[in-house]
Amino acid sequence: MPDVVTRLAAVRADIARASADSGRPAGAVTLVAVSKTFPGEAIWPAIEAGQAVFGENRVQEARAKWPELRARAAAAGRAIELHLIGPLQSNKAREAVELFDVIETVDRDKIAAALAAEMRASGRRPRLFVQINTGAEPQKAGVAPAQAEEFLVRCREVHGLTIEGLMCIPPVEELAAPHFALLAQIAARAGLKGLSMGMSADYALAIQLGATHVRIGSAIFGSR
Ligand SMILES: *Cc1c(COP(=O)(O)O)cnc(C)c1O
Repeated sequence: MPDVVTRLAAVRADIARASADSGRPAGAVTLVAVSKTFPGEAIWPAIEAGQAVFGENRVQEARAKWPELRARAAAAGRAIELHLIGPLQSNKAREAVELFDVIETVDRDKIAAALAAEMRASGRRPRLFVQINTGAEPQKAGVAPAQAEEFLVRCREVHGLTIEGLMCIPPVEELAAPHFALLAQIAARAGLKGLSMGMSADYALAIQLGATHVRIGSAIFGSR
């Protein structure tokens, strides 16, 4: 079994190749290494190897792992950028604003309001993405594609939030390409630059379709 550092290097090389193949400039795609379920000791080698951007899907788990990892990284002269990629409850908004540098899963008014209030109170300004439920799956988080434009306007005008981009998780049983294309189309129409799409199985495709952030877990850390 290759280790985390070997797999990380392979993923980075793949991202560089896919970026070059689709005419994207170097550095146009950010690798978000998804470390959910893995303990600090499994994550540390990736930090040592220069990986700075990580994703977690639970506030509670991030709270348990990342303050210590961040402190250790800071002592080694490395700044960490932590992304929340899982659903957020409004009663966790305060912790999320404290813990995360980027929150990718803004998806309803109540969350937008809670984040705006916590950002005002704390002075912290995590960057924000809106999650779009491109497959319109009833059990899945995210704004329906038809409501995206209205929600983005409300984030800006009602809540005073700056939204950097959009995020999606395509339905597992469907081809991802149409979902990535739809997300790119909604973002372009809204004038948003950030596109968080693509996971271990389909990140090269997502990069072809314009991803600025790919969220990759198992291809780096192994199966969960
Ligand atoms: C777990 C997770 C990923 C990473 O999935 P892999 O298939 O392990 O790469 C990406 N995005 C979200 C939202 C996740 O929850």
